[in-house]
Amino acid sequence: MTDQYTFRNPVTAYEQVEPPEQSQPEPGLDSKMMPKADLGEDTYRGTGRLDGRKALITGADSGIGAATAIAFAREGADVVMSYLPEEEEDAARIAELIEKAGRKAVKVPGDLKDSAMCRQLVETAVRELGGLDILVNNAGKQVAQEALGDITDVEFDHTYKTNVYAMFWLTKEALPHLPAGSSIINTTSIQAYSPSETLVDYASTKGAINNFTKGLAQQLAPKGIRVNAVAPGPIWTPLQPSGGQRTQDLPEFGKETPVGRAASRPSSPRRTCSWPQPSPAT
Ligand code: NAD
Ligand code: MG
Repeated sequence: MTDQYTFRNPVTAYEQVEPPEQSQPEPGLDSKMMPKADLGEDTYRGTGRLDGRKALITGADSGIGAATAIAFAREGADVVMSYLPEEEEDAARIAELIEKAGRKAVKVPGDLKDSAMCRQLVETAVRELGGLDILVNNAGKQVAQEALGDITDVEFDHTYKTNVYAMFWLTKEALPHLPAGSSIINTTSIQAYSPSETLVDYASTKGAINNFTKGLAQQLAPKGIRVNAVAPGPIWTPLQPSGGQRTQDLPEFGKETPVGRAASRPSSPRRTCSWPQPSPAT
């Protein structure tokens, strides 16, 4: 069986995704993507590293958050899943996979732009899991715009509320419940270091997330709580065809990376066996 421990060439081990032009309304559904995102559902093998842990993951219905939820469950954690109500279809599929791993899945739909909702989410997590020791602030909003003048005040506000304020509200609410040994993980982005001209608002939220993470890590380390950020490069997820990229840019998505591709599904064994692969088009 192929899993994340299989020795493979990372350049050819995963599919070269060349997504056809497509678009979905925000927030986008994994079930409507062509091709589908890779969530590790067929490959991730747990080894008990999170046995008995209690995790709250935002944006757990799809993309990076869903992959995290599946991996955490297979490592032994119970998971509270936050997502938007219109993503129920994606969320139900992930909850099923968590339960199949023998862990508890608690679905809590709601809009994180609302501070009261963030507080309720943490309360629900603590009640349903009997505590909390992992908080993953992963939900995010990304809408590409050609010019600064195209970003409305409302959109700017929504991007900051989703990416930055919700992280603050959730972390503040969760902190009194987190025992020593707990972990807070924030999803930032390559955009924090290398902003695209079309993502000025989004990229600046990721800069804020980095800085927040580093400051809070110093504050909480003496209490035994680790605070880290993960900065992905381009990953094929519903965020991208639902406004995250300009539609015409999708077929080239991720080709600028050193391995010449976005993060995606493992290639079929037949394809990986036929090494060397042709170099990806640039
Ligand atoms: P995704 O669309 O699968 O996940 C984003 C999730 O955010 C959605 O599923 C949704 O549930 C949640 N969300 C958005 N607005 C919300 C709101 N108002 N209330 C509640 N939930 C809300 O896409 P993804 O790429 O997996 O994104 C996850 C994180 O990864 C984001 O923070 C994104 O910025 C970051 N990221 C993605 C990439 C990439 O290339 N896909 C690269 C770097 C960082
Ligand atoms: Mg989603």
